[in-house]
Amino acid sequence: MKYWRVPLDSKEIEVSRGIVVIVEERCKGCGYCIAYCPRNVLELSPRYNVKGYHPPLVKKPDDCVNCHYCETICPDFAIYSLEIPPELPEQAVLPEFATEA
Ligand code: SF4
Ligand code: SF4
Repeated sequence: MKYWRVPLDSKEIEVSRGIVVIVEERCKGCGYCIAYCPRNVLELSPRYNVKGYHPPLVKKPDDCVNCHYCETICPDFAIYSLEIPPELPEQAVLPEFATEA
């Protein structure tokens, strides 16, 4: 997607990253999470769950931005995302815990 206006601080904005968790036994294979993920992170698994449905699988884990949309749209509470904490800046390490070089 090409934007006609870009924020002045766009290079400083840190995009959050997420880990997707799928509770396969709850899934009914409706595919909503796959169809509506804005980053196209998910796809249908060829495997069957205990109910006989194809659950989603994470095909592009590095592209998840932890937007929680899959979590919001899932009718069966079968998927959610967790934030990967950003790297701590070096200054965040207290001197008494710093390792000697
Ligand atoms: S949290 Fe957002 S980007 Fe990540 S898999 Fe769900 S819908 Fe896609
Ligand atoms: S929206 Fe929920 S029930 Fe539907 S395929 Fe995704 S995880 Fe399964």
